[in-house]
Amino acid sequence: MQRTLAVETSKKIGQPVLLQGWVNKRRDHGQIIFIDLRDRSGIVQVVCSKKIAGDWRSEYVIEVSGEVKKRSAQNINPDIVTGQVEVAAQEIKVLAKAETPPFEINADGRDVEELVRLKYRYLDLRRTRMTRNLRLRSDFVNHCRQYLFQNEFVEIETPLLTKSTPEGARDFIVPARLQPGKFYALPQSPQQYKQLLMVAGFERYFQIARCLRDEDLRADRGFEHTQLDMEMSFVQRQDVMAMAEAMFTTVFEAMGATIKQKPFPVFTYKEVLAKFEADKFDLRTKAEKEQSGVLAFAWVVDFPFFEKNKQGNWTFTHNPFSDPMPQHKEKLLNGEISSILTSQYDLVCNGYEVGGGSIRANDAKILSKVFEILGYSKTVMQEQFGHMLEAFKYGVPPHGGIAPGIDRLMMVFLNEVSMKEVVAFPQTSSGQTAVMTAPSSVSQEQLKELGIKILKK
Ligand code: ASP
Repeated sequence: MQRTLAVETSKKIGQPVLLQGWVNKRRDHGQIIFIDLRDRSGIVQVVCSKKIAGDWRSEYVIEVSGEVKKRSAQNINPDIVTGQVEVAAQEIKVLAKAETPPFEINADGRDVEELVRLKYRYLDLRRTRMTRNLRLRSDFVNHCRQYLFQNEFVEIETPLLTKSTPEGARDFIVPARLQPGKFYALPQSPQQYKQLLMVAGFERYFQIARCLRDEDLRADRGFEHTQLDMEMSFVQRQDVMAMAEAMFTTVFEAMGATIKQKPFPVFTYKEVLAKFEADKFDLRTKAEKEQSGVLAFAWVVDFPFFEKNKQGNWTFTHNPFSDPMPQHKEKLLNGEISSILTSQYDLVCNGYEVGGGSIRANDAKILSKVFEILGYSKTVMQEQFGHMLEAFKYGVPPHGGIAPGIDRLMMVFLNEVSMKEVVAFPQTSSGQTAVMTAPSSVSQEQLKELGIKILKK
């Protein structure tokens, strides 16, 4: 007999069914036993007599053969979709036993210690809240993909083993076995490759891209995050902003959110500093904050391109590959550094920065000048970015892009306080991976093969 999902039972009153799933809860009422059976679709109540009862406990995986019955009026449960029916079991088989889980699964889990939740993440993900978060995240990505395909974007993967990019964070590096002493870097973002795809003529690219940054951890930031990485050719700042704005409006409205203000308000960096004393701000009213599903998006533009770091040297505020604002290109070439504005745009939502991008320099002269200001010698520049400067000799269209962070957007949309609540297997706050214990030691043979010797600290 074919399997019936829990939700489908409502439409099968009087019919025989075969259900498979987990025991969500068991209640013994004398001669009658009630089981809430959970599968991917939801929950349905199973009833059986004590005669056929086994020792099934919570989280056992069982198979129920029985018949769907309409519940009597006083037994209807309005809280579940299948609340009008129940399945009278004739036979129940155990497909897998389960030990008592280390924490309650029928709860939101917020009071369970993080290390325990992450060690048993596969159980933690069984809770309704987490299942819902990950399903909605999947829906979100699906909606974005559909939108982008309809707008002639091409989804292209870029390498994970690559060369270090100067994007402000430390790289994760990977030893190259075949070239001892040499290393790959894991991408901080696909920035250079997506620009090279514009050189290649794709014009509209996107990727659900994993980005890895070896930054000092904060409570809410892991080493990896996922961004909706996009790049477009023959565009100006307002075109990329308009594309991202239209996409998020369509996608979030389709998912039931309310966008507070359309079009998204645009502020200059100067304005937001004066108004909110920070470049992230929340435009929702108190009432809107209490009501979930309101998204208050805003753009911030006109950031300074450079700032002085602690050592007193010039560094970039956002992205070294950006173009200065058109009217500031002269300043860059003349060395009036402090007042140069970049074409960067940041997207803010409900108090968080949820993405940023820029129009890129497509003139090798500008790019070299930026690197010169950042203090790179001609040799280092050649070594680090020779490939970009070379590519820029062969007809680079004007281009720009943006990379909204999917984890953060989902956190905001789902009203969660941590990005870990919207990632299946996040790291702990100290950088341990969920479930599997990494980082961990490797064997002497592995090290030897890589030509690596560990120094005692
Ligand atoms: N590469 C940038 C980042 O990862 C985004 C962009 O400018 O497209 O933040």
